[in-house]
Amino acid sequence: MKKTLFTKIVEGDIPSSKVAEGDLWYAFLDINPWRMGHTLVVPREPAQRISELSIESRNALMEGVVEVQRRLSIEFKTSDFSVNVNDGPQAGQEVPHTHIHVIPRCVENDNRPLWTNKNTSTPDFVMLEELSKRLQSL
Ligand code: AMP
Repeated sequence: MKKTLFTKIVEGDIPSSKVAEGDLWYAFLDINPWRMGHTLVVPREPAQRISELSIESRNALMEGVVEVQRRLSIEFKTSDFSVNVNDGPQAGQEVPHTHIHVIPRCVENDNRPLWTNKNTSTPDFVMLEELSKRLQSL
């Protein structure tokens, strides 16, 4: 089976801005964040849809979401998040590897998208790297 982009990220073949990891999951900053702190939590198991994951990976994935929320809540001083899954291509899934978007919602980031046109924006790698370091230390 051809490896997905996110499998390559999980295996370290493609760099990412890590947030946290567990035995069965890995979390990293979205390269085109809708808002500051936008994180993707992915299973290490390469399944496209939630229903195709093992029970262990599926349960662990939610542990990953909560651990990411813990870190983001300290950094962004909020308990509120948008948690979103596009579960399959017809639902808007771009990368065929299950991933959960975790986005902190707070006055500071004003629920305002960082980029209005994702396709033409250039990722801010310096910002991503600095935030990644802070989140990993929490
Ligand atoms: P979805 O549309 O639900 O499949 O979300 C895919 C997400 O992956 C989008 O928000 C992209 O910005 C993000 N993305 C694509 N490539 C990368 C990458 N190399 N590193 C981090 N995030 C990525």
